[in-house]
Amino acid sequence: MNRKGLLIIVSGPSGAGKGTICKELLKRDSGILVSVSATTRQPRNGEVDGVSYHFLSRDQFVGLIEEDGFLEHACVYDNYYGTPKDFVVDQISAGNNVLLEIDIQGALQVKKKYPEGVFVFILPPSMKTLKTRIEGRGSETPESLKKRLSSAVSEIELIKNYDYFIVNDTVTNATDTLQAIITAEKCRVNADIEEIVCRFKEEK
Ligand code: 5GP
Repeated sequence: MNRKGLLIIVSGPSGAGKGTICKELLKRDSGILVSVSATTRQPRNGEVDGVSYHFLSRDQFVGLIEEDGFLEHACVYDNYYGTPKDFVVDQISAGNNVLLEIDIQGALQVKKKYPEGVFVFILPPSMKTLKTRIEGRGSETPESLKKRLSSAVSEIELIKNYDYFIVNDTVTNATDTLQAIITAEKCRVNADIEEIVCRFKEEK
């Protein structure tokens, strides 16, 4: 069947575990392509340009904004991040399913431009767990930890803009749920169903 691919947007507060769930999903399902974001932040150990991110200078990033090269872009904790538009548009048109793992500001921009996307919000089981997870990364000062926790509370209020939420109690359970959502969405009756009906009529 020649349907457009799904655009699956996974987001949630920092520390909710969206990155880990997305990695597990990609391991399990080879039929999903991941969009490689652009960022102005410095590469971390082991990150590869063009695979983990497209690492750009601020000038390069601003140039791409001016060329309308991003589906969305946002400033997240002092660095710019954005989803290159062409890859997403080309792959979805070709019938491929594309995954975006982005922050909430970015997800809301995508929702405006492409409301037929599948918007999934990852929730931590509790604020206490969120705090423990962020502390466990060892990368935050007490001040930035406080900032992330208070951002998380205001971000969770935006969950009403999403189609689904997943409580990340364990990576296995959360990924099972994400796969179930994707399976259901592949079977959704939407605008392109007419094409499928026509095909059946022609084959008669
Ligand atoms: P990190 O620097 O830890 O890789 O990512 C920091 C945050 O930026 C995460 O919340 C991640 O989901 C978000 N992020 C990564 N890529 C993009 C993107 O293309 N657009 C937006 N809006 N956020 C992104």
